Amino acid sequence: MTSDTAIPPSALLADLELPDPSRLLPTQVRGATCAWCNERLTGATALDLGPRTEPILGVAGRWFPRGCVPCTLRQVLAAYKTHGMSCEQCVDDATLCDVQRALRALALELRR
Ligand SMILES: [Zn+2]
Ligand SMILES: [Zn+2]
Repeated sequence: MTSDTAIPPSALLADLELPDPSRLLPTQVRGATCAWCNERLTGATALDLGPRTEPILGVAGRWFPRGCVPCTLRQVLAAYKTHGMSCEQCVDDATLCDVQRALRALALELRR
């Protein structure tokens, strides 16, 4: 199967590693500010990074963090690098890996 849309960007964003939830401020948990740099976000620039299900302060539930473009791009590039080292398909032939291809497409998109 060769579909460029096999993995939607939203699924990749929901997989990015966030700071430990116990270190996040309430505004970051709410998605009002960037989950990484705490910069105030507007609807035009914010990227949805959720839903997340890690408990916050021992309370379980879904939460919807958001990130600014520069931070999200940095995390996508980091995930791209880490993925290539830990994925069997990528070690074999990275051009056939849907995850790798989707991460690359997302990074290019964010760079605009
Ligand atoms: Zn940020
Ligand atoms: Zn891969």
